[in-house]
Amino acid sequence: MPRPNLWQDAVAFALPLRNRFRGITVREGLLVRGPVGWAEWSPFAEYTSPEIDAWWQAGVEAATIGFPAPVRDRVPVNVTVPAVDAERAHAIVTASGCRTAKVKVAEPGQAPGDDLARVEAVRDALGPDGRVRVDVNGLWDVDTAERRLRTLARFGLEYAEQPCASVPELAELRVRLARGGVDVPIAADESIRRSGDPERVVAEHAADIAVLKVQPLGGVRRCLELAERLGLPVVVSSALESSVGLAAGVALAAALPELPYACGLNTATMFTRDVTAEPLVATDGEIAVRPVSVDDNGDWRAGPSATGAWLGRLAGVDPEGLEGREDR
Ligand SMILES: [Mg+2]
Repeated sequence: MPRPNLWQDAVAFALPLRNRFRGITVREGLLVRGPVGWAEWSPFAEYTSPEIDAWWQAGVEAATIGFPAPVRDRVPVNVTVPAVDAERAHAIVTASGCRTAKVKVAEPGQAPGDDLARVEAVRDALGPDGRVRVDVNGLWDVDTAERRLRTLARFGLEYAEQPCASVPELAELRVRLARGGVDVPIAADESIRRSGDPERVVAEHAADIAVLKVQPLGGVRRCLELAERLGLPVVVSSALESSVGLAAGVALAAALPELPYACGLNTATMFTRDVTAEPLVATDGEIAVRPVSVDDNGDWRAGPSATGAWLGRLAGVDPEGLEGREDR
């Protein structure tokens, strides 16, 4: 697929975060208006070739093809709770209107007691009918994961996302939890989108649930095909995009034949501003499926030097890369 000239007109955005997340305080990326809609390209700073090719492919889809037809018009979402203290965690969940919370745990520099207090506060805020999931970002070894999840399970966990880094570790952890009578399903996130071999998760029985993110996996259609191949229930999550990038995630969640879990798409609430006057945020725990139009007068622009830097990064994309890998 040739590189469309449309990226020549791309503009960088910079959206400040309310709390530090993934080690950043400002989220940046490129926005461009294509023939059928707005598109975003925003690989995190640590992503390089060839991973950024998939992110680019997702942008091309949004700008030039658009999204598949939805089968639902609203998408249930979770509130994301960063590694904040228990009081703040309680307040974030209460203010969200969501019935599902994803709690970040295993933050470097924090103690197990911090995670315990945060998860307890979130369970208290949601009540017994709410759903609580934790995201570990692969930071525990198998022993630690088994121990911590056994403790956290008393608060009733919907699932634990990427408790260990590798697929074999996840597989071993699942066996140990089952043998130990700890009822915490395992969701794979990084093992799906960064391993280069998402199907290994299924082949090795390493997860009960697959977390899919549109940009890292190359677009909505590629995610739909992957979901079918995996045969696991899917949770659609954002890569902390602006509302333009989130619209692709919402389109995926809206097009999946089944959607048994709330999605991680309510992340526009984590910014102090957005690229649109009508951010794609949840009302009563659901996001409406709708197009997003960029606010020409908004204060989201990062400036010419940032745009230049992002276009320089874009030059590192191999337009044939993803296609070539899939054709093997
Ligand atoms: Mg995750």
